[in-house]
Amino acid sequence: MSDTIFSKIIRREIPADIVYEDDDVLGFRDVNPQAPIHVLFIPKRPMATLNDAEPGDATLLGKLLLACADYARQEGVAEQGYRTVINCNDDGGQTVFHLHVHLLAGRRLAWPPG
Ligand code: ADP
Repeated sequence: MSDTIFSKIIRREIPADIVYEDDDVLGFRDVNPQAPIHVLFIPKRPMATLNDAEPGDATLLGKLLLACADYARQEGVAEQGYRTVINCNDDGGQTVFHLHVHLLAGRRLAWPPG
């Protein structure tokens, strides 16, 4: 896949407000937050969309979600609630083609999304 802005964040070539990191996952604040807490969790190994995930990526996908839940607990919003979102391709509204999970919290979120 082609390089994206998120690969540059992983390589520290552009700045980001990094809030979480382990061997496989990076979490950083969204530059255009849609809620008081809006963090993106990405695999360090690039994967363009969820469509590119294979059975061997099951552990990595699980780690992304566990990182979201851990961070929500750390921020003290786990009990109040939060939302995780993966946008996929055009109809899903994906604009950065490096798989990412949005974690949104800190306000009541409307449903259904637009
Ligand atoms: P959308 O742009 O419709 O939300 P995505 O699901 O692809 O679609 O989300 C990409 C997200 O990446 C956006 O929320 C956007 O604000 C965020 N973003 C883009 N560039 C940066 C950056 N340099 N640092 C942090 N977040 C970024």
